[in-house]
Amino acid sequence: MDKVKLATVWLAGCSGCHMSFLDLDEWLFEVAKFADIVYSPVGCDLKEYPEGVDVCLVEGAVANEENLELLYKVRERTKLLVSFGDCAVTANVPAMRNMLGSTEPVLKRCYLELGDETPQLPHEPGIVPELLDRVRPIHELVTVDLFLPGCPPSAPRIQAAIEPLLKGESPVMEGREMLKFG
Ligand code: SF4
Repeated sequence: MDKVKLATVWLAGCSGCHMSFLDLDEWLFEVAKFADIVYSPVGCDLKEYPEGVDVCLVEGAVANEENLELLYKVRERTKLLVSFGDCAVTANVPAMRNMLGSTEPVLKRCYLELGDETPQLPHEPGIVPELLDRVRPIHELVTVDLFLPGCPPSAPRIQAAIEPLLKGESPVMEGREMLKFG
């Protein structure tokens, strides 16, 4: 049987969901029996998201142009996209800035009002990605195949969700153990 091509992606999140993925510890050796990790911020240093990915866990909300571009590419090149963690599912912590209404007051607050010695707005086109006006959960922008909530989802929950996927089966996403936020 061909191995599953597995990817993980990090958008606007704290990387805690990826840390939880690493908490799978020795079960990661099981993952390696069924899957090749073809793109990930942990354990894989490819810069370009590849074609033909079977399963991708997407951590984080969509907060800037770079996140958006990568998410569209991921959706186009991935069979089964998992919204991985509360930031991906609801926009969660990164969306707290939505309360300020738009990008401008957020930048002013962070870089001018709270700036120390040389307050200035960041502006490096092509280097610093432009912020989107609102931070959004990923299902508002692309089709999501599976929601895996949690902040972060615990390692046992991640295992319960992806073990069936790696065998071509569907996980049972029911009950508090699998669906509780936070
Ligand atoms: S869901 Fe929680 S742990 Fe995961 S990226 Fe967001 S804040 Fe971090």
